[in-house]
Amino acid sequence: MKVFKFGGASVKDAGAVKNVAKIIGMFPDQQAVVISAMGKTTNALEEVVQALWNRDEMRFTQKVDEIRSFHLQIMNELFADKDNAAYADFENEITQLRSKYNERIPDNYDFEYDQIVSKGEVISTKIVAHYLTSIGESAAWTDARELIRTDNNYRNADINWQRTEELFAARFTPLFSTSRVLIIQGFIGHTAEGFTTTLGREGSDFTAAIVAYCTNAESVTIWKDVPGMLNADPKWFDNTIKLDKISFKEAIELSYYGASVIHPKTVKPLQNKQIPLYVNSFLDPEKTGTVIQADQDQDHLIPSFIFKMNQVLVSITPKDFSFIVEKNLSDIFERLSSIKAKINLMQNSALNFSVLLDEEKTDIDDLLKKFEDHYLVKYNTGLELITIRHYDQPTIDRVTTDKEVLLEQKTRDTARIIVKDLSKK
Ligand code: ASP
Ligand code: MG
Repeated sequence: MKVFKFGGASVKDAGAVKNVAKIIGMFPDQQAVVISAMGKTTNALEEVVQALWNRDEMRFTQKVDEIRSFHLQIMNELFADKDNAAYADFENEITQLRSKYNERIPDNYDFEYDQIVSKGEVISTKIVAHYLTSIGESAAWTDARELIRTDNNYRNADINWQRTEELFAARFTPLFSTSRVLIIQGFIGHTAEGFTTTLGREGSDFTAAIVAYCTNAESVTIWKDVPGMLNADPKWFDNTIKLDKISFKEAIELSYYGASVIHPKTVKPLQNKQIPLYVNSFLDPEKTGTVIQADQDQDHLIPSFIFKMNQVLVSITPKDFSFIVEKNLSDIFERLSSIKAKINLMQNSALNFSVLLDEEKTDIDDLLKKFEDHYLVKYNTGLELITIRHYDQPTIDRVTTDKEVLLEQKTRDTARIIVKDLSKK
């Protein structure tokens, strides 16, 4: 059995849904197909939650109407038969969504968020499942809200692996005796009490890994609008190269440094069961993309580049000129953690401790205030962090031309360089 995952872009309109059906039809295997909300529906549902929270009925209704017409248009292009059961199923979901406004005043934002935002995946999977059936595919809709068991950490729920495995064995795998293709929502799960949870934005890749782990699938394929994993983000880099084959370990390293092709939680469960992960293009499904698997033999062949823009380098010096040693390091870390700083890189010298942070996520005034009693703090904004896996000197030279290098750290496999772009003022 194979697991396929189709994200929002691959079901963004009727043509895209037809293409998904085509890809499913290309492979004769049994398939568990994980699907995200259509297009930008998750963002639209986030606005619905916001409107509900603000008790803004006009905005709430307007957003629900927009979501309804967006999906109706897709359905109208997919279903020749206007009596297709998809319509009743869909209107039922929309009615439930609308009724949220009058249910009660919510008092747990994250809980309400999950009950509402999860509808995007419920709706998309119902439409796709009905469409597949309407074209004669042997397909069935399944409900992640009965299969993927999580804790109640709403908006970022953690998986109860053991229970999820049991649920898949009892209620999912047996369905293959009657259907070749089982459709399931990405991104969502449920608590022991039966409330809906979400796994964090962009969590559908992770769902694909959960499904594969819990069914011992032979492989996972994530279908994307790129030809595979590239060695750099084309936004920042010309002449990117596709990585044909990398190891689980390398994929985890790349996502740790900020490569964003697959959700960071996806690789670990697959690595645990040695299930290969393919990243292929839904625009060119015959072509091979990238395979992520156990072998490390090709990891070093192509250098990978990860860019983090808008970085701020903060340098912290004790006012009494005491050395930077374990004692004040722990004080510095405590202060940083109290302002929820996310550290991208750090370095210390005798009198100075430097951390690199995302500018957008850092309140500099807050940070200065936190430290002013004992430390002198200086900072430098508008920087870039470049990480190169499997670097050599020419690759470093290539990315640092016209740039001032402020700091460089190297290990055997990884070079990390903080630069200021001299062409930007
Ligand atoms: N629909 C969810 C999101 O947009 C999950 C996903 O697409 O992976 O975040
Ligand atoms: Mg998405």
